[in-house]
Amino acid sequence: MRIRVIAALLALCVTTGCAGRAAASGFSAGRLNVVTAFYPLRFLADRIGGDSVRVTDLTKPGAEPHDVELNPRQVGHIVDAGVVVYLKGFQPAVDQAVAQEAKDRALDVASTVALLPLSTSTDGEKETAHGMDPHVWLDPVRYATIADAVGARLGQADPAHAADYTARAAALHAELDGLDREFAAGLETCQRREIVTSHSAFNYLATRYRLTQVGITGISPEAEPAPRRLAAVAAEARRTGTTTIFFETLVSPKVAETLAREVGARTAVLDPLEGLTEPGGDYFSVMRANLAALTTALGCAP
Ligand SMILES: [Zn+2]
Repeated sequence: MRIRVIAALLALCVTTGCAGRAAASGFSAGRLNVVTAFYPLRFLADRIGGDSVRVTDLTKPGAEPHDVELNPRQVGHIVDAGVVVYLKGFQPAVDQAVAQEAKDRALDVASTVALLPLSTSTDGEKETAHGMDPHVWLDPVRYATIADAVGARLGQADPAHAADYTARAAALHAELDGLDREFAAGLETCQRREIVTSHSAFNYLATRYRLTQVGITGISPEAEPAPRRLAAVAAEARRTGTTTIFFETLVSPKVAETLAREVGARTAVLDPLEGLTEPGGDYFSVMRANLAALTTALGCAP
């Protein structure tokens, strides 16, 4: 029966010249093609999709995703996708490709959670659309909501496996609830609550756990801070007794090191998880490493 259907489709293609139509079904070898924009979305698609999906990530491991550019092969993946999971306003090249090639097959995860405006401590830098902060995945509670939305969207595109997607999304949601409880407990009682970071990616995390982010550069990690901004951050770091200046893995630590020397603090990594740099790690291992770095730097009660 199945063979006859395929044969019929092939015959149709021969007569009508439907090159690409088979790929446009959104499946390859029975698996749903899912394209994700960058690591935290890839992690969701992998965990929720399991064996029923084939995931292609548009940002290479270890690459900085803010200014990703797409090659023709990647645009081809978007054309062939059953679902594209992206975050509108974060990566202009992805926004544009989705608008042109996959409007009806895309899930904008920014539409599934309440967004925060860009932090005012970043000197009003407006790198993203609508002036909203894109780094939602660093809040485990919002990330769990996004997991549910990804599960629902995969089920819509692939109804035969909808129950599996829903179940795996629910399991991941529960695991994220556990991570949220670890963060809340770990950061409950601390000597300091200010975190000085090289790239202002941690506002969602800070807001969730009552911390204050003091960003050195703005929302875009490559931006060079103005001397005036550096001086203001140094003054704030001294005022609050900051012991640690955080930098991130994908960008040079030079600015953080300069500032740390100036105020007599150490540097440590706080990973915004925009790409996975730790071999064998995943969202949970990196977030737990972040929690350990925070509790040490802030002098939190064990
Ligand atoms: Zn960022």
